[in-house]
Amino acid sequence: MKIICIGRNYSDHAKEMNAPTPEKPVFFLKPDVALLTKNAPFYYPDFTKDLHYECELVVRITRMGKNIDEQFAHKYYDEIGLGIDFTARDLQQQCKEQGLPWEIAKSFEHSAPVSEHFIPKSGLDLANISFYLEKNGQEVQRGSSADMIFNIDKIIAYISQFFTLKTGDLIYTGTPAGVGPVTIGDQLKGYINGTLLFDFGVK
Ligand code: ZN
Repeated sequence: MKIICIGRNYSDHAKEMNAPTPEKPVFFLKPDVALLTKNAPFYYPDFTKDLHYECELVVRITRMGKNIDEQFAHKYYDEIGLGIDFTARDLQQQCKEQGLPWEIAKSFEHSAPVSEHFIPKSGLDLANISFYLEKNGQEVQRGSSADMIFNIDKIIAYISQFFTLKTGDLIYTGTPAGVGPVTIGDQLKGYINGTLLFDFGVK
């Protein structure tokens, strides 16, 4: 399976990163070993001193497809989960300055914790899924799919022009504003519409 992450999909986050609002979705990949499941602890890597959380809605692909038309994209996923796109912000800044790819900052081992449980999309208003992240019991990030620049169907249509999507692939749909650092000892809890979906510690 592969993990596809959308960058700059919320204009308030693009602004906080001093990045322009994109005209097309921006995406990058994480390898399968980036996945971290079952609320397993995340071990702070020693190659960064500025690790940030980015809490994101996650779509799991349920059918194989290429060149998927936006109007049929909804047939390719059934459930929505929640995950963290962990980012080594210091390495990402160096990559940006040097015009280099982001893999060392974004695609390292266990950089993609994901909720064990997903919520059936039939029980959600896809145009307004509210989610938030708590760090040590304090809300640090809140977003809604209503504020996405590119909605899930548009993302699927765009990505699938470039490669086949397969069952089990995960799409991290971008982070709202409010990204920030984690440190060893932090506890992260993520919620969709008030339902706790992940709860893990940073060690
Ligand atoms: Zn992200």
